[in-house]
Amino acid sequence: MNKKRFDYIVLGSGVAGLRAAIELAGHGDVALITKCVLGESSSEYAQGGVAVALSEEDDIVLHYEDTLKAGDGLCVKEAVKTLVAEGPEYITQLISWGAKFDTKEGALSFTREAAHSVNRIIHAHGDATGHEIVRTLKEYSLKFINIYRLDYTYAIDFIKEDGRVTGVLALDEKSGEFTSFFSKAVIVATGGAGRLFTRTTNPDVSTGDGAAMAFRAGAELEDMEFFQFHPTALHFPGAPAFLLSESMRGEGAVLRNNAGERFCFSYHEDGELAPRDVVSRSIFFEMNKTKTNHVYLDVTHLDKEHILLRFPKIYNTCLGYGIDITQDYIPVSPAAHYYMGGIKTDLDGRASLKGLYACGEAACTGVHGANRLASNSLLEGVVFGGRSAKAAIKDSENTDISDTEVQTAEKFAEADYAESLKSIQEIMWKYVSVSRNETGLKAAVSELSAFLKRFEDRTPSDRKTAELKNLAQSGLLMAHAALAREGSRGGHYRDDKPEKITEDYHIYFSNAEFNPHFR
Ligand SMILES: Cc1cc2nc3c(=O)[nH]c(=O)nc-3n(C[C@H](O)[C@H](O)[C@H](O)COP(=O)(O)OP(=O)(O)OC[C@H]3O[C@@H](n4cnc5c(N)ncnc54)[C@H](O)[C@@H]3O)c2cc1C
Repeated sequence: MNKKRFDYIVLGSGVAGLRAAIELAGHGDVALITKCVLGESSSEYAQGGVAVALSEEDDIVLHYEDTLKAGDGLCVKEAVKTLVAEGPEYITQLISWGAKFDTKEGALSFTREAAHSVNRIIHAHGDATGHEIVRTLKEYSLKFINIYRLDYTYAIDFIKEDGRVTGVLALDEKSGEFTSFFSKAVIVATGGAGRLFTRTTNPDVSTGDGAAMAFRAGAELEDMEFFQFHPTALHFPGAPAFLLSESMRGEGAVLRNNAGERFCFSYHEDGELAPRDVVSRSIFFEMNKTKTNHVYLDVTHLDKEHILLRFPKIYNTCLGYGIDITQDYIPVSPAAHYYMGGIKTDLDGRASLKGLYACGEAACTGVHGANRLASNSLLEGVVFGGRSAKAAIKDSENTDISDTEVQTAEKFAEADYAESLKSIQEIMWKYVSVSRNETGLKAAVSELSAFLKRFEDRTPSDRKTAELKNLAQSGLLMAHAALAREGSRGGHYRDDKPEKITEDYHIYFSNAEFNPHFR
C-alpha cells in the first residue's frame, strides 16, 4: 500500500476544515483530504448567515443567553462563552481576508432569525453566505504552498498505534487505490449526517463519516440523539428539499395550513419565531391534524423588491419550479438539517483519543446543547476550526510521524447502492425523525443492525459502500441514544414520552460499543 507523511492531516474542506488548514499551514505541511471536489460541503450551501455579536445593539452576553435558551439547558456553558466571545474576532479576520458580507450605508447589515433577541445575523449576496465564506477561505488557503489539496480522496478509517491516532487510511476515489497517510495530528471536519434521512437539506457528502470513523476507533461520541430538523424545506413533486432560510420568517414570512390559516401561535407564544425544534414539531402536528404532507410559507405580503434583494437564490430556485414566491404560497415541510451530536471534544477540539481533534458539525463541543441556535454553526466552524488547529500544533511539538504497515480486511462493494441508501433513509425517516417512540426506535435498531452484518470483517472497497456503512452506524447510534433518553428534550421528541426530561445529563458512546452510557 502507498504511504504518505505530512505534519498534519485535515479531513474535510467546509468552513471548519479550511479554517483549520490555514491555521496549521504556518507550522508544517498539511494534507487537506476531502472527498468529492474541494469545498463541496454543507458550508457551501449555507444561506441565512452567521450569528455574531458585532452590531451596536448587540452584546456577547445576549448571544450567550440566546444560545443557552435554544439549547434547552444542555449546552456546555464554557464552550458557548468561547464561541460568542471569540466569534467577533474570527469574523473580523475573515472580512480582512476578503469575505464580503452585505452592508447598508457602509456598515454591516444585520438581520434577525428565530430565537435571537436582536438583529445579529450577517449575510452575503442576500442568501449565499456559505458560498462567500468558502470562497474566501479557499482563495486565502492558496497563499500557502504547503497545504496539499487532496480532493477526491476519501477517508475510510483512522490508523491507531498504542491508543493514539497516527494517521488515516484513505481511498483515491478515481483509481480505487488505498493509501496510508501519517501525521502528528488528525483534525476531523467531515460535517454532519443529513443524508441519513429521506428528506434533508444536506448535500450528498453529509454521510456522518467522521463520527462513524471515530466510533470505530473507540473515541467518545456525545449527544447522538440530538438532530435538528429544519421547519421549512421546499415540498414540491420532483424537487429536492431545498432550504427556505430561517431569515425569511425573521423578516416577516408566516406559516399557513392548507386552509390558509396561521397556526404557529397555537403551539408556541413566539409563533413562527419560536426555536427551530418547536416550529418543526408545530408543522409536523399541524400536518397530522389536517392530514396533509406540507404546509405553506407565505411572503406575499412583503415588499417584492426587498424579497428579490434579500433572497435572490430562493426566489430563482422556486421560480424554476413554477412558484413565484412574491405571489404564491410556498409548499414546505420539515427536513433533516443539522447534527448537534458528534465526536466529543474539549474546548480546543481535542477528542478522547490522543492525536485526534474534531471541529465543526462533526464535533460535539457542547455549544448547541439539545438544539442549535440558527446561524451558530458557520461561526462554530470558524472559531473551533481555528482553535482545534492551535491545540494540535501545541500538543504535537515533540511528536514523531509514524510509518507502519497497515493491513486491510477482505474488500467488499455493495451491489445495489441506491436501493440500500433508500432503505436506510426510509428507516430513519419513519422511526428516528421529528417524532420518535420506543416501538419505532426498536424497529430501527433491529433493521440497521441486520443491515450492518454485511460489513463484518470487511473493508469497503469504494466510497459509496463506505458511506452506507457510516450512515447505518450513525443511524444506529442515533436510535440507541434516542431509546436511552426516555423523554423529550430540545430536538429529541418522544411521542410516547412527551414530557420534558428535566435532569441535565448527556449520553455517550465509547470503546466502539453500541452501548449508551450517561453522565
Ligand atoms: C442548505 C443549508 C443551509 C444552511 N444555512 C446555514 C446558515 O445560514 N448559517 C449557519 O450557521 N449554518 C447553516 N447551515 C449549517 C452549516 O452550513 C453547517 O453546519 C456547517 O457549514 C458545517 O461545516 P463543516 O465544515 O463542519 O462541515 P461541511 O461544510 O459539511 O464540510 C464537510 C467536509 O468534509 C468532507 N468529507 C466528509 N466525509 C469525508 C471523508 N470520509 N473523507 C474526506 N472528506 C470528507 C466533505 O466533502 C466536506 O468537504 C446550513 C446547512 C445547509 C445544508
